[in-house]
Amino acid sequence: MSARLLDGNALSAQIRSELQPGVAAFTARHGRPPGLGIVLVGDDPASQIYVRNKLKAASELGMRADLERLPVSATLDEVLAQVARLNASADHDGILVQDPLPETLGPHAARIVFDTIDPAKDVDGFHPVNVGRLVQKRPTLVPGTPLGVIALLERSNIPIAGARAVVIGRSDIVGKPMAMLLLHRDATVTICHSKTPDLAAIAATADILVAAVGRPGFVTPEFVKPGATVIDVGITSVTDAAVIARLFPEGHARREAFARRGSLVVGDVHPAVAAVAGALTPVPGGVGPLTVAMLLSNVLRAAEMVVGPA
Ligand code: NAP
Repeated sequence: MSARLLDGNALSAQIRSELQPGVAAFTARHGRPPGLGIVLVGDDPASQIYVRNKLKAASELGMRADLERLPVSATLDEVLAQVARLNASADHDGILVQDPLPETLGPHAARIVFDTIDPAKDVDGFHPVNVGRLVQKRPTLVPGTPLGVIALLERSNIPIAGARAVVIGRSDIVGKPMAMLLLHRDATVTICHSKTPDLAAIAATADILVAAVGRPGFVTPEFVKPGATVIDVGITSVTDAAVIARLFPEGHARREAFARRGSLVVGDVHPAVAAVAGALTPVPGGVGPLTVAMLLSNVLRAAEMVVGPA
């Protein structure tokens, strides 16, 4: 058996095209497009790529997309002032501060900055008001990655209600909201983390297994019930040849790609899982593109919430 691959690129394109009429109608009605402001602090290479992708996708959809760049030397007050400007801006319905912030801003910088974003513009869904609303199953802005996973499951006709779901990872950004969204759709949910004993055995009870760990190839076939749906949220850029050798046999196209480039983006799920799972998201091309699509969906939603639907 080889798992059905759930194509995140195709679904992302479909969702973005479905957003287009809403964006056009909003623009026609309000005389301006929905607007997204992104704050990027420092020069983290991965963050620059993520931000570029988000800006490009927003512009392609006819949204206004502005990047506010601050140097790595920026102070916390400068970052907060930038967020305050976007909070007050009549042209920006959504605000996103790219994570991670430079360590020089201090250990609690991300929390302080995210707490400053107007909850009505918090298109990443990180503000405690939006987290609380999510927990209470009230309409709100929900983080794009877990929202994208739900879209992928629902549109691939994978039943969630009644399913046993296991989420590996308990971050505020992925694991916890993922578990909550599955719970709200009547899955029976278990959350695992680095202190969970017998993790493989728990994972192997799942009809839907979500891996959001950040460790290449962590989920091996013994974690997977035959026929289960496996969602790979992990994204790691690997530069260690030994890690690649553990994932891909000699002669494998991806191993050769690594040899050419010196790095390779991989997920948390070992490629051998494809022989056991019923359905599987690839990395790249799985959950990642959906995160961007759901972010744009949140921008339109925030715009409509603030000034009324188009
Ligand atoms: P994170 O904040 O580092 O959280 C990782 C989670 O994995 C933690 O809960 C941690 O447990 C758990 N973990 C770590 N080692 C483990 C182990 N050996 N056994 C069991 N659990 C373990 O990361 P994140 O922000 O949630 O992101 C997770 C991954 O998803 C990363 O690769 C990230 O790049 C990727 N990601 C992808 C997208 C996308 O668009 N596809 C979006 C966001 C993130 P503890 O809590 O006990 O430490």
